[in-house]
Amino acid sequence: MIPAVMPTYARSELMFDRGEGPYLYATNGRRYLDFSSGVAVTSLGHAHPRLVAALTEQAQKLWHCSNLYQIAGQKRLAERLVALSFADTAFFCNSGAEAMEGAIKVARKYHAVAGHEERYRLIACTGSFHGRTLATLAAAGAEKYLKGFGPPAPGFDHVAYGNLNEMRAKVSKETAGIIVEPVQGEGGLAVASIDYLKDLRTLCDEFGLLLIFDEVQTGMGRTGKLFAHEWAGVTPDIMALAKGLGGGFPIGAVLATETAAKGMTAGTHGSTFGGNPLAMAVANEVLTVMTEPGFLPRVERIAHALRSRLEALAKAYPKVFAEVRGKGLLVGFKCVVPNLEVVEKLRGAGLLTVAAGENVVRLLPPLIIDESHVEEAVGMIKAVAGSWS
Ligand SMILES: *Cc1c(COP(=O)(O)O)cnc(C)c1O
Repeated sequence: MIPAVMPTYARSELMFDRGEGPYLYATNGRRYLDFSSGVAVTSLGHAHPRLVAALTEQAQKLWHCSNLYQIAGQKRLAERLVALSFADTAFFCNSGAEAMEGAIKVARKYHAVAGHEERYRLIACTGSFHGRTLATLAAAGAEKYLKGFGPPAPGFDHVAYGNLNEMRAKVSKETAGIIVEPVQGEGGLAVASIDYLKDLRTLCDEFGLLLIFDEVQTGMGRTGKLFAHEWAGVTPDIMALAKGLGGGFPIGAVLATETAAKGMTAGTHGSTFGGNPLAMAVANEVLTVMTEPGFLPRVERIAHALRSRLEALAKAYPKVFAEVRGKGLLVGFKCVVPNLEVVEKLRGAGLLTVAAGENVVRLLPPLIIDESHVEEAVGMIKAVAGSWS
């Protein structure tokens, strides 16, 4: 009999009823160190007192009123994101896939209003992940996720991640833009080189293409900068955010330059729930915390500490771990042994991690961890790695 919850996930038996900082407490009575953060979502840990306060304060005033009206928190968050980024404008939605759908629409509309409706194709990279809606599945082009859901949405071309020549060769008179993740989160923690991102910017400028960065996973401090593309010193025309932006409250955002968004006039896009006062209250507080002096440099430092410990583990256990991958606190091992077994054993030891493509185990701790949490995680990884030798 089919479970009441549609069985689209291979779920663990674990159930949590409470979280605090980087820890989750399960109904089995055990405490777990959460280095998954709900897949990069609970960026400030669980039950952060300031997020709880922001949410409960807003909950007593106004939950929802629709985008037919002015929403103060939305204006505030948009203005702040604009001030902190390349963007001139922001659209709010509820998830990463929705943000990517919005990004794709902005790019296509830009060319359409310029009189070039034929320029609707987006070039994306193999190994990427952009969400589970029909367009974002087609954008990523992963056969295993598309299979059985009818013809993929048209308008997407694919090239190897990191290969500029392939990208350049794929550009046609129908190309609207390029979609790239600065670090491939789900795909297996491949990191785009700074040169690659710079060259993509140059390529887009040369051909009049819009550069779209999917920072749904890499954004909001995850790599030690507010946005991962800042490492490369280049800016996109459009960017998708979600995951860490709400600290656990569902939210997505499409950021764009004024030029890129010039076709996005009244009626061209919308969302019932997007930008709702509850989400805005929490995201504004997330942003306040993350932009406080010292917060991001601290993330960078702790990420460095974690990385060097992971490098040492990879060296010590070459029959278990092939290499360390990723950037900042989006980091992990490419495994020699099956990654799912590693994730399961780590969970047994009390550490929550997430599997990724290419046999990778991802560590995505909340950005608030300190050295003691790194040591605690390293101890558990060591114990698990040792169980193979
Ligand atoms: C998670 C993710 C998405 C999809 O986000 P949802 O909120 O699950 O729709 C899109 N792009 C990237 C890079 C992601 O990591």
